Amino acid sequence: MSSNKLPKKLSTRVLEALASSIRIEILRLLHEEGPLSYSELMDRLNLDPVKHAGRFAYHLKKIQSANLITLSREGRKYQLTDLGWKVYELTREIEEYALRASMRLLVRTSRTTIEEFDRSRIVDSLVKEAQMPQEMAERIARKAEERLLDLRVKYLTAPLIREFVNAILIEEGMEEYRHKLTRLGLPVYDVKETFRDVSVKSGVIKDVKDRAGEAVLREYVLLDILPRRVADSHLSGYINIRKPGSWILYPDIIVHDIEEILTRYASTLTAASENGKLSLSLARISKFVRDACYEICEEQILEYFNVYLTPYIVGVKDGELDDMLSSFLIDIAGIKPTISLGIEFGIPEFMEGKRVPSKRVRYGDLYDESYRLLKALLRCYEKLMNLNGFRERLPRLIVKLRGSLDEEALLNIHKIISLGGEVTFSNLTRSQGITSSEGVWIKPDQGMTELTLLRRVWIGGVSLNIPRASYESHGRENIFARRLERICRDAVDALMTRHNVISSNISANLLPTIFGGVNPYSNLKGYRCSLNLVGLLESAAMLVGSKSLIEDEVLDYAWKIISYLEEIVKGIEQEVKVRIALSSIADMDASTRLADMDRLYYGKTKEYAQILRPYYTSGSILPLDVEVSTISRIRMEADFHKRVDGALAVIPVEEDEVEDLEALKDLTLEASENYDLRWYSYGLKFTYCGMCRRWFKGFIEACPECKSSRNLTKYVKIGASYIGEHILPQSIRNILAGSGGYSLK
Ligand SMILES: [Zn+2]
Repeated sequence: MSSNKLPKKLSTRVLEALASSIRIEILRLLHEEGPLSYSELMDRLNLDPVKHAGRFAYHLKKIQSANLITLSREGRKYQLTDLGWKVYELTREIEEYALRASMRLLVRTSRTTIEEFDRSRIVDSLVKEAQMPQEMAERIARKAEERLLDLRVKYLTAPLIREFVNAILIEEGMEEYRHKLTRLGLPVYDVKETFRDVSVKSGVIKDVKDRAGEAVLREYVLLDILPRRVADSHLSGYINIRKPGSWILYPDIIVHDIEEILTRYASTLTAASENGKLSLSLARISKFVRDACYEICEEQILEYFNVYLTPYIVGVKDGELDDMLSSFLIDIAGIKPTISLGIEFGIPEFMEGKRVPSKRVRYGDLYDESYRLLKALLRCYEKLMNLNGFRERLPRLIVKLRGSLDEEALLNIHKIISLGGEVTFSNLTRSQGITSSEGVWIKPDQGMTELTLLRRVWIGGVSLNIPRASYESHGRENIFARRLERICRDAVDALMTRHNVISSNISANLLPTIFGGVNPYSNLKGYRCSLNLVGLLESAAMLVGSKSLIEDEVLDYAWKIISYLEEIVKGIEQEVKVRIALSSIADMDASTRLADMDRLYYGKTKEYAQILRPYYTSGSILPLDVEVSTISRIRMEADFHKRVDGALAVIPVEEDEVEDLEALKDLTLEASENYDLRWYSYGLKFTYCGMCRRWFKGFIEACPECKSSRNLTKYVKIGASYIGEHILPQSIRNILAGSGGYSLK
C-alpha cells in the first residue's frame, strides 16, 4: 500500500461507518461509559440478543474495520480508538452546529451531554418546586425562553437558567415563589476562602465540610423554615440566632443521668472484679456521650459525676482508680460539643437517702468514698493539665458549692484554674438547680428536687439586641417598651419554630441515641424558651444619658429594663402557653454582630456617641475591659444574678495574682457566701508558643524559651472557654489585648 493512498481509503471507510445512527449511538455509549462488552452494548441499545444478533454484528464490524473501535486485550470489551474518539467528537460538533444554525438553544446538562433547550422543564419545576399554577408557570417559562434566546452564550447551564427565571420572578413581584426555587449553595470564591480560613484558625479539614454544610443549612433556615418576620428580625439585627445552620438539627444542651445510663446497659457491665466493673462503667459512659454528641449542639453535662460513680469505686485501690480516671479523661477529651462534669463536695442532702441501684446501700452511706473519688479526679485532672496544658481540651468542671466544702479539694480546683482549666462555679447555697458550664440555669418545678432535671434537654436561646430598642425609642419609654416587646416576640417565635422542627426530627428517628426507642432516654417535654439579654447595661447607659457603665443610675435602669421584660414575657407566656426564661449567656457572635449592625445604622447618632462600644456584653453584665475593683464587679454581677435565670460572670485575674491559690480560693468563697454570686468563673490570660508548644501565663510578646515572637497566640476567656485571638472577632481582640482593665484589684 502506498502511503499517499491510505488516508483517502480510511476517511472513506470512516464516513461510511458513520452513515448509520445506530453506529453513532455505539460510539456515544463507548465515549460516555468507557469500554463495554458485546452483551452490554446490546443491552444499552435495547436490542434483542437473539433476534438482532446478526444486524448488530454487522454494525460492529463496520465501525471496527474503520478503525474506530477495538477489542480490549483482557476483558473482551469494545473501546474507542483515538480515531474513534476524535470522530465521535466531530459528530457532536456537527450536531451542535446544526442546532445553533437553526437558532435553537443548547443546554449543557452534565459534563458530556448537551441537549436542546426545553421550555417545559421550566414549567415543570415551577409547578413542582414552587407550587405555581400551571398557566402562570407557562407564561413565566415563555418569558424566560425569549430572554435566553437573546443571549450570546455558547452553552446554557441549569444554574444559569434558574438565575434567569429567578430574575423574572423578582420583576413580576413573585418573591414568595422565588424563595422556593432558590438554589442553596456557596459561591466558588467562598468555598476557596473556607479552606484558607479554616487553616488560619488552626482547624482541621473536616471543618471545611462542616462549614459548607452549615452555610447551606443557614440559608435554608432563614429562607424556608423561619417565619418571614423572624428571619428578617435576625438579618436586620434585632435578634441573633446562634449557628443558624445547626439550629434546626438538635437541642443545645443535655443533662445526663449517669445512674440511668448504667442501669440501661447493666447487662453489658458484668465483670469479674470491682476494677473491671468500674472500668466497664466508665467505658459505657464514654460510649454514650460519644454517640450523643451527634445529637446535641453545645454541651453534654455529666451531672453528679463523683456521686453516681461512687458505688463503683468501693474496693478499688487508689492507684488503679487514678489509672482508670485518667484513661476516661483522655478518652473524652476534645469531644465536640463540650463535655462537662458536675462535681459535688460529698453527697448533696437530697441524695443521701437515695438507694444505690442493685446494692444494699444508700448514697448517704458513701460520703467518704465520694470525697475519695473527687480527690482522685482532681489529682488526675491536674496531672493531665501539667502534661499537656489545656490544649488537650479536657472536659469542663462545674463545681457545685453547697455549704460544706473541703478546703484541700477547693485548693486543688483553684490549682487547675491557674493552669488554664475551664471551671465554672455554681453556687447552690440558697437554691437548687442545674447549671451548664456557660451558666444556663435549669431549675426544678416547685417542691421538686434537682433530680427531676436529669435527662432534661435545654433547646437553646435567642439573643435580644436591647440597645437597638434604645436607639429606636429616642429616649421615650413607651416606645422603648414596645420595641422590646416586638424583639421578644420574634425571639419566642424563633424558638417555637426550632422546637417544632426538632420534634419532627425526633419523630423521624433522626436522633436515636437520646430520643429513640420505646422508652426514650429523654424528650422535649417542659421545654422553656430562653431569651438572652445582650447589651443590657449599654442600653441602660444610653437611656439615662451616661457615658459610664458603672453608675448607680445606670444599674437601676438596667433592673428597670428587666422588669419591663418580665412583664412582656408574662404576657407572651399566657398567649403561647410556653414557659419563657430571661438569661444572659455569653454569645460572642451576638455581641459583635449586633454591635456592628447598630454601628452601621446608628453610628452617626448622638445616642451612639454616648456608649461607643465595639461589642455588647453577654454572659457577664459588665464588660471585661471596664476598670473596676474585683469586689465591685462581683457585687454588680451578683445583683444581676438575682434578676435573671442564668448568666456567667467572668472575673478577670492577672497572672501574678493567680499564683496565690489561697487568696483566689478565698475570693471564690467570698463571692458565694457574702455576695451570693450564682454562676461564675475566672478569666486568666495565656500565651501559647507554637514553636515550643508550651503555655505561658499572661500576654507575652516573646517566648521565654525559644525567643520567638512570631508563633505566639494569646488566649482570653469568653464565657466558659479560653479562645485564641485568631478566632476572636477584631473588635474583641483589640479591646482585650489592650492594657486597661482585665485585672484583679
Ligand atoms: Zn517558644
